[in-house]
Amino acid sequence: MKTQYDHTLIWFKIITIFPEMFNALINYGVTKKAIKSNIIHLDLINPRNFSKNKYKSVDDRPYGGGPGMLMTVEPLYLAIQYAKSLLKNATVIYLSPQGKIFKQKHIPKFIKKKKIIFLCGRYEGIDQRLMDHEINEEWSIGDYILTGGELAAMTMIDSISRLIPGVIKKKESIKEETFSNHLFDYPNYTRPRTIYNMSVPKILLSGDHNKIRLWRLKQSLVKTWMKRPDLLKNTLTKEEKNLLDEFKKNKS
Ligand code: SAM
Repeated sequence: MKTQYDHTLIWFKIITIFPEMFNALINYGVTKKAIKSNIIHLDLINPRNFSKNKYKSVDDRPYGGGPGMLMTVEPLYLAIQYAKSLLKNATVIYLSPQGKIFKQKHIPKFIKKKKIIFLCGRYEGIDQRLMDHEINEEWSIGDYILTGGELAAMTMIDSISRLIPGVIKKKESIKEETFSNHLFDYPNYTRPRTIYNMSVPKILLSGDHNKIRLWRLKQSLVKTWMKRPDLLKNTLTKEEKNLLDEFKKNKS
């Protein structure tokens, strides 16, 4: 018998002491639609519910001393076992500033996984025994310290979701955007043609598709070259190289 989840393409189980934070994904925009259409499925598991402590606490002082508190093993261990029992063969991911840095190019691998359990740390992080025995992968969203893994999990879920087939209807908008190839997106304009003395470049109104394509490509190349030249290393086609050389020579 078919269930409402038959079409779900990715299952996320998220272990967090702040499940309400995920309302930002559940209640807004593209992720809201993807959840409603059963393309992604999001379940929130609060480790406090697995705490055997009468105060439902999930943290304690680190052995050996030192600043801050650590998340304790038991509630997280039990929450992970529960998540795994609901999602067989899932990858257990710990969000951590010490993990591999998440980039656009990694998204297809996440989509292929289909079943992901995210563990959001808080305080000074988690007990090393969980790292050693329960975590399959450690991922970071950048070289800075957040107060918890929730924003990192949300960032990853948001960017993974929009590349799942069917979530964003216009495939071209994904193909041409920044980081989907080696170039930044070109500058975009919408109506009206002129506003507050600012006008849309004439070429975009010309209706000449090839000229518009070349103009956009050149703008993308120049923007990338000026802001992130590292992205262009050995990746230019002959046409792209000519357009960029033309800009370097004439500054236009
Ligand atoms: N003491 C830890 C350290 O120095 O590596 C930092 C702990 S941080 C204050 C609390 C939690 O936020 C971490 O356990 C992790 O889950 C999450 N976190 C912080 N920065 C992150 C980042 N850049 N990417 C992913 N998760 C992060």
